[in-house]
Order: sequence, then C-alpha cells, then structure tokens
Amino acid sequence: MSAEAKLRDRIVVIGRSLYRRGLSPGSSGNISARLEDGWLLTPTNSCLGELDPGSLSKLDWKGSLISGGKPSKEYFLHLAMYQKRPQSGAIVHLHCSYAAAVSCLDGLDPASCIPPITPYFVMRVGKLPLIPYFRPGDKALAAQIAMQAEKHAALLLANHGPVVSGQDLDSAMYAAEELEETSKLMLLLHGRKIRTLDNSQIQQLGETFGATWGS
Ligand code: ZN
Repeated sequence: MSAEAKLRDRIVVIGRSLYRRGLSPGSSGNISARLEDGWLLTPTNSCLGELDPGSLSKLDWKGSLISGGKPSKEYFLHLAMYQKRPQSGAIVHLHCSYAAAVSCLDGLDPASCIPPITPYFVMRVGKLPLIPYFRPGDKALAAQIAMQAEKHAALLLANHGPVVSGQDLDSAMYAAEELEETSKLMLLLHGRKIRTLDNSQIQQLGETFGATWGS
C-alpha cells in the first residue's frame, strides 16, 4: 500500500473516531494530511463519520484541487498553517463543544486562551493564541493564522473552534483531544481561583520532555 493510500485510510479512521465521540457534529470539522506531492483534505459538507478514502480532496500548495471531491471551504486555514509549519504533517480543525465554548468567552488572554493548568496541556498543545473572529469563508483569516502558526502548533479561532497541527495524523488528533479536555476543565473551573503551573514547573517539562510553552 502506498504512503498516500495509508494516509487516506487513516483520515477515514480518525474522522469516524472523532465523529462517534461527538467531537465533530453534523458536517463540521475537517482533517488534512501532508503528502509528497500536495496534501489531502476532507471534502466540503462531508460528515467525518462517513468519509470515503477515494473521495478525499487532493490539493496543491496553491490550494487548487488536483483530484477528488470539492474541498472543505475552510481549506485556506490548513494551507496557511502548513506554509508556516514545515514540520507539521497533519491538521485537525473541529467545532468541538468545550473548545468552541472557550472560544466564545470574553476577556481571554490573546497570547494563550488557556493557561498552563496541566502538564499534558503544556506538553501536547502548548500556548493557544486567540485568532480574531472572521465570518466563515473570509480568507483574511489566513493572514491571522500565518502570523501565529510559525510559533504555535494549535490556535483557537474566536467564536468558532480550534485548529491543531501535529507531526502526523495521530499526534494532531491526540493534541486536539487534549485541547478539548483541557477546555472542559477550564469551563469547570470558570469563576474559581486557579493554581496554574509556575515557570519552574514549566521549565522542568521542557528539560524532561522537550515541551515548549515559549515566552
Ligand atoms: Zn470551522
């Protein structure tokens, strides 16, 4: 089986898994993966629970369709992220409930919508900058993503949801799940005094596990 065929199958498996667990209701959310000669993306209006490996959209690095179904309208989010993150092999974008709820909170810290409340959030997600709101399909969003994507693997789109990149499909999915679970914690803790990890604890995670929370 070719590397591309394996990635196509993995996108289908991951899509089904996310859908079954309620992380991508309806036809929301999209998944992409980098290929040697372009990239794969879930098609527009597709349910992640019912993807067909042969119908995934294959695009070039200008965002033009090479083969497959019409790509998701949100293709430019993925493209902007890949162009700034050559180390990222896959991206998961979801409208999952808890992260989307956090994205609607007023007064978020734009440098990181979620503070370092658990070591797993620091290690698997890292700082989560807030990207301002744009109407669906507004390509001005791409420039905002490009400004943050070089330094950050995960971003939160205001009043929308997260965009999470990873070295490969599985790590992008795990990071998106970690982000969703940490968002749930944030909402459970909302209005309470939170003890976050301090700088030396974050530094320790960097030294031991290579986590990069950044300055
Ligand atoms: Zn979206």
